[in-house]
Amino acid sequence: MFDQRDDDGIVILLDAEPLADQHAAVREAASVSPAAGLSTVEALRRKGYQGTLTALGTERTKLRSELQLAFLEAEFVLGDPADSLESATRTVRTASGRRLSADAVVVATGVRPRELPGQAGPAGVHVLRTVDDAVALRADLRAGARVVVVGDGVRGAEIAATARTMGADVTLAGPGRAAMAAQLGPRVAGLLADLHTEHGVRLRLGTTVGRLTVHQHAVWSAGSGPVLDNGVVCDATSRAAEGIYAVGDVSRWHHDAMGSLLRLEIRTNATEQAGVAAANILGAQQSYTPISYVRTDQFDARIQVYGVPPADAEVCVVEGDEGDRRFVALHRQGGRVRRRGDAPSRRRGRRRGRGRRGRSVPGRGHRGYGPGRCPGRCAA
Ligand SMILES: Cc1cc2nc3c(=O)[nH]c(=O)nc-3n(C[C@H](O)[C@H](O)[C@H](O)COP(=O)(O)OP(=O)(O)OC[C@H]3O[C@@H](n4cnc5c(N)ncnc54)[C@H](O)[C@@H]3O)c2cc1C
Repeated sequence: MFDQRDDDGIVILLDAEPLADQHAAVREAASVSPAAGLSTVEALRRKGYQGTLTALGTERTKLRSELQLAFLEAEFVLGDPADSLESATRTVRTASGRRLSADAVVVATGVRPRELPGQAGPAGVHVLRTVDDAVALRADLRAGARVVVVGDGVRGAEIAATARTMGADVTLAGPGRAAMAAQLGPRVAGLLADLHTEHGVRLRLGTTVGRLTVHQHAVWSAGSGPVLDNGVVCDATSRAAEGIYAVGDVSRWHHDAMGSLLRLEIRTNATEQAGVAAANILGAQQSYTPISYVRTDQFDARIQVYGVPPADAEVCVVEGDEGDRRFVALHRQGGRVRRRGDAPSRRRGRRRGRGRRGRSVPGRGHRGYGPGRCPGRCAA
């Protein structure tokens, strides 16, 4: 029903328009794909681990066939989620009271949306995480509907653009000075703001809407153990405490090349971090230093971002023209292009850069623009 693209990890429907009688199965399949957990199990077996493996999940994944799962020779405990973690003994207690002790525990629970006070209950208030969330939201997105999107990150900006394209009257609110400012830096985020405004999205930015609560899935740790702070805090090897690792959306690990903690919510990260964590469980001491990557389509623009721009960086356009909204921009600090992670491979850069729309922001231009002197016009 689904496949995953090799170049960017995006999961696609094999049949873009499944028949009506397949809709329930598609929904179920999309909602039960615990990427990081399953990838960890697979990576451990690939790397030669022959001991006992137990995977706790809410449902069996539909990203693998029964045969593929059988090959893993793991016990899949389904419908009995983890309830608490006793870190000193690495013991997980499940909802039914079962206790599982292990040499290594991997937390791969993903995250859930932040909630606003009083959010539960009223009709017309949505969060977006699961397929059911998406279906419920779509039912309310009709032409002329008034929509307020709370959250100015990638998903918020995407939802605003989609709702506006569907004819809704849209306001985007959030605490940043511009939508996606953390991913794009202020200058390029300003261009994105122009794009939204031109299409009729009202921006109400620089405002915090209510109080937000923590949003990692709660697998609370008893006693001293993992620190929960906007995710499970880990060292560079994805280790949260002795014998305890966290991978995927829930992991906030120390990115050695950036020199700071980072949490990434992208599908490829779930797979790649799981591979490194599996190696470390088996005795390696590998730091996990991916280059973060975001791709998003909003209105008629495709935006691709490699790395995390420093807040005080200057922007240097090395290809194309900002006025045409077809350009490649580098962020530099102290007159030099700052490396914010490992350089992407040429193959990956080329494949990811293939545009499909006329007026998009091309990604191919990053080839060869590694750390060092800025090769282009400085637009700071
Ligand atoms: C609207 C939306 C759009 C997105 N679009 C993209 C995109 O275009 N490209 C991209 O790369 N990424 C995208 N993402 C992000 C991507 O979906 C995540 O990065 C990826 O799913 C993370 O994988 P994960 O395994 O860490 O978490 P999940 O996929 O969330 O899996 C976690 C699993 O753990 C289970 N679980 C939770 N609590 C427990 C418990 N206590 N016990 C046992 N099991 C538990 C959950 O049921 C779930 O099955 C999008 C996300 C959203 C919300």
